[in-house]
Amino acid sequence: MILISPIGELSGELINGIAAEIERVFGYSTAVDCVLQDLSFALDQKRNQYHSTMILEQLAACLPHRAIRIIAIAQVDLFIPILTHVYGEAQLGGTTCVVSTFRLNEGRSGMNISQKYIDRIVKEAIHELGHTFKLRHCPEEACIMHYCRNEEDVDRKSNELCRYCKVMLEDEIKRMGT
Ligand SMILES: [Zn+2]
Ligand SMILES: [Zn+2]
Repeated sequence: MILISPIGELSGELINGIAAEIERVFGYSTAVDCVLQDLSFALDQKRNQYHSTMILEQLAACLPHRAIRIIAIAQVDLFIPILTHVYGEAQLGGTTCVVSTFRLNEGRSGMNISQKYIDRIVKEAIHELGHTFKLRHCPEEACIMHYCRNEEDVDRKSNELCRYCKVMLEDEIKRMGT
């Protein structure tokens, strides 16, 4: 089972959309439970942004026994020190990832999100989860594992893994034996 952990109040449509795509792409069932609510430990006061790597460390400590992965859905602006911002971050081959609605929903509340923005956020959620299954960035522009520099790039890519990434994912799931 893959656990979806919303942070703060989030659109049910978005959560359902992410759950459905996780089940379709990865073949695992999902559950929704908030394991982490307060992100103040990750706030960088100078940047007024949240350090996503610190969020991942905290999430890993919250992994319930029955879950093989956690994806947190944040609504704050995330960063890693070498970049101005990130849409999300994942532990490559690890257990946790996070995606944020902040940039992808252009600063609006996470409670009411139109379909265009839901599609974007769902794609980036699947992308981050892909990294936890050891998938790296893919040169194929339509592949969901393609690295996107801006929201238009996200809109342009498909919601599918390319054939190469699909085979890599199948191999990794077989190797995990879960
Ligand atoms: Zn990535
Ligand atoms: Zn690919």
